[in-house]
Amino acid sequence: MKSLSTRFALAVLAAAGCLAALAAEPVLVVGHKSPDTDAIVSAIAVAHLKTQQGVPAIAIAQGIPNPETRYVLDTFKLPTPPVQASVAGRQVFLVDHSDYPLAPDDLKKAEVVGLVDHHKLGGLATDKPIEAWVFPVGCSGTIITRMYLSAGVPIPREIAAGMLAAILSDTVVFKSPTTTPEDRAAAARLAKIAGVEDVQALGMKLFEVKSEIAGVPAMSLLKRDFKAFTMNGRKVAVAQLELMNLATVSPIRQDLVDAMGQLKKADGYHTVLLMLTDILKEGTEMLVVTDDAGLVKAALGVEPKGGAAWLPGVMSRKKQVIPPLELAFR
Ligand code: MN
Ligand code: MN
Repeated sequence: MKSLSTRFALAVLAAAGCLAALAAEPVLVVGHKSPDTDAIVSAIAVAHLKTQQGVPAIAIAQGIPNPETRYVLDTFKLPTPPVQASVAGRQVFLVDHSDYPLAPDDLKKAEVVGLVDHHKLGGLATDKPIEAWVFPVGCSGTIITRMYLSAGVPIPREIAAGMLAAILSDTVVFKSPTTTPEDRAAAARLAKIAGVEDVQALGMKLFEVKSEIAGVPAMSLLKRDFKAFTMNGRKVAVAQLELMNLATVSPIRQDLVDAMGQLKKADGYHTVLLMLTDILKEGTEMLVVTDDAGLVKAALGVEPKGGAAWLPGVMSRKKQVIPPLELAFR
């Protein structure tokens, strides 16, 4: 029989535990603004993994899923994370970004406890040490696969399927120069868990869904995969549409340029770029609206004619467009 003092101590501990459980709200796991499949699925996966590790966490999103992500969530029966813009006063785990302009607007009023990313670091500052998983691979899903392995936590079938789709999407089915051997290995492992036999076919299906632009207003297309940056004090936006055939945008090309101009004016951008990436031809037509054509020319290495330039081999915003832009603006 336990002594009275031991029983008292246990009671106190239990009460304290209850109080802590009441006080501690789950960690919010969140991807970037204009979320893509990686941003949404990575939030779902990290929330699951952390919860399995004894740290209650939930996935949120900074926007509704794009058509490709909608397809992935529906096909693999994953829940849609609720849209929540504010994270003030909460513990936050960032996935697929670390740049303040891409993060929730009030992130500085939250406590960042963790980070998973495969982009450039964007000035994130924290008060305490954090758990950070940052590697130059093709997808956050690849890094999270490594996290599951390292934690010894099995990856649920649905999450494996979602992360596989994220890898295929981010690496443009392994065609993007951001692709690493670890992305291919993670995809193979996830395909096995998910029971996806034909990975290429899933990739082609995602291409199709992603390329679907019929009937979508130009401004919505511009904002579908839109990233804003601050470069040497100037606001720069780089949007991207990945398409199986650039001819599909020809009829709305001028509408896109007009939308870029409107956005530039409304939000005070110095430069707005739109990458029309041909995922089969493996190149990008860059639409340019800027205050300084010389700067953009220096960054791209070619002179835009009529507000556009064809960039053969360019598929990755983070690896082939943002770094030379940063250099040119410096
Ligand atoms: Mn992303
Ligand atoms: Mn990503």
